[in-house]
Amino acid sequence: MRENATTKVQDEFEIVIGLEIHVQLLTASKMFCGCSTRFGAPPNTQVCPVCLGLPGSLPVINRKAVELGLRTALALNCTIHPQSQFHRKNYYYPDLPKNYQISQYQYKDHPPLASDGHLTFEFDGQARTVRIRRVHLEEDTGKLVHVERDGTVLYSLVDYNRSGVPLMEIVTEPDLRSPEEAREFLSRLRTLLQYLEVSSGRMEEGTLRCDANVSLRRRGEPLGIRTEVKNMNSLRAVEKALSFEVARQREILQAGGEVVQETRHWDERREVTFGSREKEEAQDYRYFPEPDLVPMVLDPAWIEEIRRTLPELPEERRRRYVEQYALSPHDAALLVENKAMADFFEATIKLFPQPKTVCNWLLGDVTGYANTHGMEFTDLPLTPEKLAEMLKLMEDGTISIRLAKEILEEMLATGKDASSIVAEKGLVQIRDEDALRAIVEEVIAENPNPVRDYRAGKEKALTFLVGQVMRKTSGRANPDLVNRLLKERLHG
Ligand SMILES: [Zn+2]
Repeated sequence: MRENATTKVQDEFEIVIGLEIHVQLLTASKMFCGCSTRFGAPPNTQVCPVCLGLPGSLPVINRKAVELGLRTALALNCTIHPQSQFHRKNYYYPDLPKNYQISQYQYKDHPPLASDGHLTFEFDGQARTVRIRRVHLEEDTGKLVHVERDGTVLYSLVDYNRSGVPLMEIVTEPDLRSPEEAREFLSRLRTLLQYLEVSSGRMEEGTLRCDANVSLRRRGEPLGIRTEVKNMNSLRAVEKALSFEVARQREILQAGGEVVQETRHWDERREVTFGSREKEEAQDYRYFPEPDLVPMVLDPAWIEEIRRTLPELPEERRRRYVEQYALSPHDAALLVENKAMADFFEATIKLFPQPKTVCNWLLGDVTGYANTHGMEFTDLPLTPEKLAEMLKLMEDGTISIRLAKEILEEMLATGKDASSIVAEKGLVQIRDEDALRAIVEEVIAENPNPVRDYRAGKEKALTFLVGQVMRKTSGRANPDLVNRLLKERLHG
């Protein structure tokens, strides 16, 4: 077990974490109107009377958004409520033109889209189950842009392009017991959403946002006072912010103090959470049913169709990779975590049916290159066809493993295919015995001491001599052949 602040806390206190995750859905249009959801358009160009909240405009529910919500709810083993109701959540803020947000709220006998699910995953070698309290749909707000000079806000601009973009909220029960576990859960959930093609799940771009409720309690005691941590923009930030918050609360409790119930923001640069200085008041959003929308009644046949057509989910895929392709559970997990890479893997082994080899190259050199260059896998100019071709050249002995690594690097840097690089650089492996024998002779003549050492029984000297031949051929010699030729000559 890692020795850090968190594990120490666990000795005395139990950590209790629940997450609220907002997911931007991959729909072409907004939640209640036909405006585009495309990112990066000039401000206020993707708006209409509905998403600007003009009087008299009427919302219409986006069927695709409901479908994506249902897909997620089913994959999270939730109970789907065949009838649900949208509500108005009333508050005033400049990014909210209607002065209310249309959301779903647990209200009397109106359930949300879905509730009471769970996600099971492996953490620290144990199966962990986190209960899902609810999955519901709502709309996003606009975006304020603050124009500053010397750290002072001069004025603020508002862009309503994001106003009305479909969001799905997933709320967990407070079942997470450490910041590390919360991070792992979120990572699994993100992968699941990507497999379901529900969201791009990019926290850095805000298409997946996570708030956390954190509290500590002495074992066996009721739940402690919690704080809500916001503004965590990556998986790493979630773990760090929660670790900070846990340590902060522990210090207060150990000194006999009381944690204040409040919202705290994560400051990425200073690596601390800070409370907003304003006095916290329990917000009354005056929820009431949205009078412009009739209750949403779902056709059971539609729900069944969505259930039937759910794609293969990460957990199933992981199992299949171990059983069908004999990958190690560790490799299978790494591969499956990145859906784009797993899809790439499957396409490549259709062309080059050696799963283990393909997996090793993807998780090794290809991932290494992406990490070194700060790129996403999907940014690399590599195709399954190009990788398969390179592996075939290696398999038939045209290039050595060492050359293959160099060629791959060049492929990733330039987007060229392996055979053009081999042709351009004259990199074909030397397998001509006569040509190699001549070089072996040269090396022997130039290195009398290692030759004498080897003949005196020092096996290591041979490695040096092989290295010299490889150097003279710029790595193009077949190492097995060089080994054999050197031995024949030195023993002969
Ligand atoms: Zn609109």
